[in-house]
Amino acid sequence: MAVDSILSSPLGPPACEKDAKALQFIEEMTRNADSVQENVLAQILRRNADTEYLRSFNLDGATDRETFKSKIPMVTYEDLQPFIQRIADGDRSPILSSHPVSEFLTSSGTSAGERKLMPTIKEELDRRQLLYSLLMPVMNLYVNGLDKGKGLYFLFIKSETKTPGGLLARPVLTSYYKSDHFKTRPHDPYNVYTSPNEAILCPDSFQSMYTQMLCGLYDRLQVLRVGAVFASGLLRAIRFLQLNWRQLADDIRAGSLNPKVTDPDIVTCMARILRPDPELADFIVSECSKEKWERIITRIWPNTKYLDVIVTGAMAQYIPTLDYYSGGLPKACTMYASSECYFGLNLNPMSKPSEVSYTIMPNMAYFEFLPHEAAPAPVPPQLVDLADVEVGKEYELVITTYAGLYRYHVGDILRVTGFHNAAPQFQFVRRKNVLLSIDSDKTDEAELQAAVESASRLLKGCETSVVEYTSYADTATIPGHYVVYWELLAREATAGPTGEVMERCCLEMEECLNSVYRQCRVADGSIGALEIRVVRNGTFEELMDYAISRGASINQYKVPRCVTFTPITELLDSRVLSTHFSPSLPHWAPDRRRS
Ligand code: AMP
Repeated sequence: MAVDSILSSPLGPPACEKDAKALQFIEEMTRNADSVQENVLAQILRRNADTEYLRSFNLDGATDRETFKSKIPMVTYEDLQPFIQRIADGDRSPILSSHPVSEFLTSSGTSAGERKLMPTIKEELDRRQLLYSLLMPVMNLYVNGLDKGKGLYFLFIKSETKTPGGLLARPVLTSYYKSDHFKTRPHDPYNVYTSPNEAILCPDSFQSMYTQMLCGLYDRLQVLRVGAVFASGLLRAIRFLQLNWRQLADDIRAGSLNPKVTDPDIVTCMARILRPDPELADFIVSECSKEKWERIITRIWPNTKYLDVIVTGAMAQYIPTLDYYSGGLPKACTMYASSECYFGLNLNPMSKPSEVSYTIMPNMAYFEFLPHEAAPAPVPPQLVDLADVEVGKEYELVITTYAGLYRYHVGDILRVTGFHNAAPQFQFVRRKNVLLSIDSDKTDEAELQAAVESASRLLKGCETSVVEYTSYADTATIPGHYVVYWELLAREATAGPTGEVMERCCLEMEECLNSVYRQCRVADGSIGALEIRVVRNGTFEELMDYAISRGASINQYKVPRCVTFTPITELLDSRVLSTHFSPSLPHWAPDRRRS
């Protein structure tokens, strides 16, 4: 219901008064992006002027951009690690932040094989909460009636550790779900979840998932949106249903709870929800026992209007599988965030994944942008302010946060697609990294993804797709070569691709890789033929289970696109069904423009 009496927003008519305020806030922040940024920087520098870190750069109380840019260096995690270590060890003096570090958020990014520890302060929760509070008002502009039902979201916490100095270290979402902001959130008809808090907050991932799925099945006709943080999380839930539907249906038939679910809070809470429903049980059995699981999401939850999952960046490879299970439902990528800082939101969340742009909210932190240029960068590098980035250009994100990161390289590369008012909008391009290297070649995630995508098109004829992949630079042989592990999904009961098709896939991947790779392969002979190893179904789930058993969070887990850790490669190799090599050399010709 659009409320006529409330202020209309340039973004569209708000659904209720609360939404009107949120949309107005977005308008204010984005219209005044530059001055908001100036104030944010001044606030951060003023309050942290007496920190050991800032004092060492002799800012002398200055809070202006010019002094800041001339005196404070750009840093990476490795530069800050000694400071972070002291905080972790219990030094409570104002090292990076004048406000006490309340806990560490463990990033999925690692340093020297360990998860990065991001210091945070209490008030950051409010800032994150503020960004969350903007998501539904924006979504309500595009999808009506979300107050008439519920969201089935698979949300998880993971166990936390303590640093030697006694600070908690846990993923940002665990911190959020365990906070009062989440646990005691006021009722909001636009944000009702099928999952009870007790299920979300259960540290046992099986019990948590089982209960969340059970509740989602009971409420199936009320479910209007289905989601998880990342696409991989939602697919994991579908896989869980595949493995557990019989037990779930038995529970629904009898109104009982699987004896494996023993968490006392869940047991108490489910006693209020469980009821025998033989009709629903019959329905689940009839749908789940069908051979094809195509459109299973819309078959079980027929009122689903969209999937709420991130499918940008490394998650893009899940789009075909999500489309298969959902019959092509819209996939809403609502926000862009990290452990270091929540960055912004998608003001057009129903846009196609390839067109998703995130608007960075200028109140969240101070943002700078390092032009990501092929040409040698000027020394010292010239960072650009949020309001000054140029459409079409790519930048690396550099942030200065209230919690004490100053000019910190996030490692993400973003492309400017346009502006909302004075605030730029960014497409997430990739995380800056090099995945594979044998010689002078450097293959990053985006290149590998494109090569897999292109090669997997050759599988269309045999009704097969690549559901998961990872890679490995095999240097045990000379010359070394790229190994790419593929897990395949055959849509129908088909024989799958022949060895010849798989060889063509190997070559097609090579054709798609960059010219340095192909030069090494063709002219230098320093790289051997690319190899594809087809692994058994379920292998990548085992990989995830392994990562989780070693402390990764389900919410944040992303399939590593390159594996180097021996137990992982051993696991993969023990699941190989067949291996295939590129049968000939890819094309390569010297770049004439340079000669
Ligand atoms: P973490 O610190 O483990 O939470 O990971 C944060 C990183 O996840 C970001 O720096 C991005 O590289 C990635 N990420 C977060 N949100 C998105 C998004 N909406 N699209 C693509 N990548 C994202």
